Amino acid sequence: MTEIRHNWTREEILGVYNLPMMELLYKAASVHREHHDPNQVQVSTLLSIKTGGCPEDCGYCPQAARYHTDIEGNDLMSVQHVKAQALRAKASGSSRVCMGAAWRNVRDGEEFDQVLEMVRTINKLDMEVCCTLGMITENQAQRLAEAGLYAYNHNLDTSEDYYTDIISTRAYQDRLDTIANVRKTNVTVCSGGIIGMGEELDDRAGMLVALSTLDPQPESVPINALVAVEGTPLEEQEPVSIWEMIRMVATTRIVMPRTQVRLSAGRTEMSQEGQAMCFFAGANSIFAGDKLLTTPNPDVNEDMKLFELLGLQPMKPFVKKAQPETVEAVDSQFESLGEKPKWTRPDHQIERNELAKEKSSK
Ligand code: SF4
Repeated sequence: MTEIRHNWTREEILGVYNLPMMELLYKAASVHREHHDPNQVQVSTLLSIKTGGCPEDCGYCPQAARYHTDIEGNDLMSVQHVKAQALRAKASGSSRVCMGAAWRNVRDGEEFDQVLEMVRTINKLDMEVCCTLGMITENQAQRLAEAGLYAYNHNLDTSEDYYTDIISTRAYQDRLDTIANVRKTNVTVCSGGIIGMGEELDDRAGMLVALSTLDPQPESVPINALVAVEGTPLEEQEPVSIWEMIRMVATTRIVMPRTQVRLSAGRTEMSQEGQAMCFFAGANSIFAGDKLLTTPNPDVNEDMKLFELLGLQPMKPFVKKAQPETVEAVDSQFESLGEKPKWTRPDHQIERNELAKEKSSK
């Protein structure tokens, strides 16, 4: 069995990334088979439970209030609406629902209580529940765990060095602190990043160092290709080639053998052959549904046709880890602390973010 290493260096990871393609694919597929059934792919549905109006300045994100994009914002969805969407997702083969809210961080109060109720509701449908709500404290992570949360998503996005070129409203350490808070519970960690934001290969390797040296490594690592949205600071970025995506997936698989590697944003730009290569290289999870929060994604029927063509099967829920129990709100051991946490605000200037903001105010 390939050992799980927590001491990968950038140089070593770059060495893997730059292997001749056939060697890279062979290595990645071999590691993949040691740790996973290569014909099983986990299917998640991403649901935007609160869209737009975010105070952060992530250069890739159309939901940041400061940029002028075509996103239609909405308030927090009702629990009933979320339940109906989860049932639809389940019927179409998803084993996990990931709920995303365009928040900087979680604040205790009615809205968080409503999210906790959504978690309880979906867990009772026997689906894995994931949330991505921004930064969270240990108490908030404990309350999510008690409600039956299976995974918390909090992406590192890129390397620590390049992070300061993408986001000025929080620091890399805030991300790591949130991941550490999640780790104090039994909730699994989902954390990955985006390629195609103008970063160097060194930054891609740097992100994989940051993720693989976590102990334990994240149970799930989404690899996104930037979807350059008009009005965002990164609107003019050229799309990454499929070969870069394959290299990134294969490298992630090799440095994090047990992790679910998820093909995330950018799949609409990939051919069926390209996606098949990614599965061969170790991707074993996808997001289904025609929208990924706000950007387009292949139709679920198209995905199921591709699965049939390749002989892939959607993974059942709770294969990797048992279903958490749901504790009802009245029985909670972790009371709301009324936290309004203050996370870092470095607020350094990022020229292209400032330009996009200026453009949007005209
Ligand atoms: S990525 Fe998340 S935190 Fe950043 S602007 Fe978008 S919604 Fe806000």
